[in-house]
Amino acid sequence: MANLGIPQNTIEILQKHKFMFQKKFGQNFLIDTHVLEKIIQAAEVTKEDMVLEIGPGIGTMTQYLAEAAKKVVAVEIDRNLIPILEETLQEYDNVKIIQGDILKVDIQKLVEEENDGKPIKVVANLPYYITTPIIMGLFESQVPIESVTVMVQKEVADRMQVGPGSKDYGALSLAVQYYAEPYIAAYVPPNCFMPRPNVGSAVIRLSRHKTPPVEVKDAALMFQLIRASFNQRRKTLQNGLHNDAALSFGKEQIAEVIEEAGLSPSVRGETLTLEQFAQLANLFCERQGSENAGLPKGEA
Ligand code: SAM
Repeated sequence: MANLGIPQNTIEILQKHKFMFQKKFGQNFLIDTHVLEKIIQAAEVTKEDMVLEIGPGIGTMTQYLAEAAKKVVAVEIDRNLIPILEETLQEYDNVKIIQGDILKVDIQKLVEEENDGKPIKVVANLPYYITTPIIMGLFESQVPIESVTVMVQKEVADRMQVGPGSKDYGALSLAVQYYAEPYIAAYVPPNCFMPRPNVGSAVIRLSRHKTPPVEVKDAALMFQLIRASFNQRRKTLQNGLHNDAALSFGKEQIAEVIEEAGLSPSVRGETLTLEQFAQLANLFCERQGSENAGLPKGEA
């Protein structure tokens, strides 16, 4: 089968199958062999690996993954792409195509069945409309994952990678960095896709930490403290935590914990590091003598 990274080959297969792009599925197919090579390289895929590809499209990156990996399982939501994938991937006996929505697929079961429960690598040119739920869903689940290498909107990649002091720093930066070490491997302009997206893109690799970089007794509480701090960016940490409907700490208690953590009463939440959020969560926990401190039932 011809290499679909070459634009003419992609055009031919789309015309042959009279394929109509569906905007609602975030369909922007890669048509640049250098970018494809760069993704495979960044993902460090070897013949030992099972790769889960999210949204294979017409199979462009799947061809590269099939050459590099032991096995590729690709999940595609658009039924119209399945006959195309059957054609473009027919020479590979190490590729399995599943039609479905990645947010509903039981990935844990897939890993048990296809890789004996051993850690997998996720590689994808993601549909941008669901980038965050896909990435957070993968990390928050108990699925064994070694790394996630994905094409995302440039601004989203930047947000995942930065620390305090940047305007891009936010809840996503902290959530990603709690689970993984981010590394931006390449910035990719719109002309590498068909059709061209309206935004710039970037390839980011998230290598999962073997143990989290901070010790936190109650991660759910820490993430709620983080959300409360960034929901009200121009407020002090003290007010942000007090005003958050999902937290039930008193004003005095919050002030005491902030002091105990060695922070100024006027500190703003967006200046705090992951270590400081973990420390705050642990201090609240200790005071309550409970692991579900400050969170209403059902949210802890
Ligand atoms: N991998 C292909 C490439 O690089 O050329 C296509 C990438 S395109 C940006 C995103 C792909 O994800 C599309 O094929 C789209 O149909 C598929 N997709 C969108 N939402 C999905 C979902 N919820 N589950 C699985 N696939 C999805």
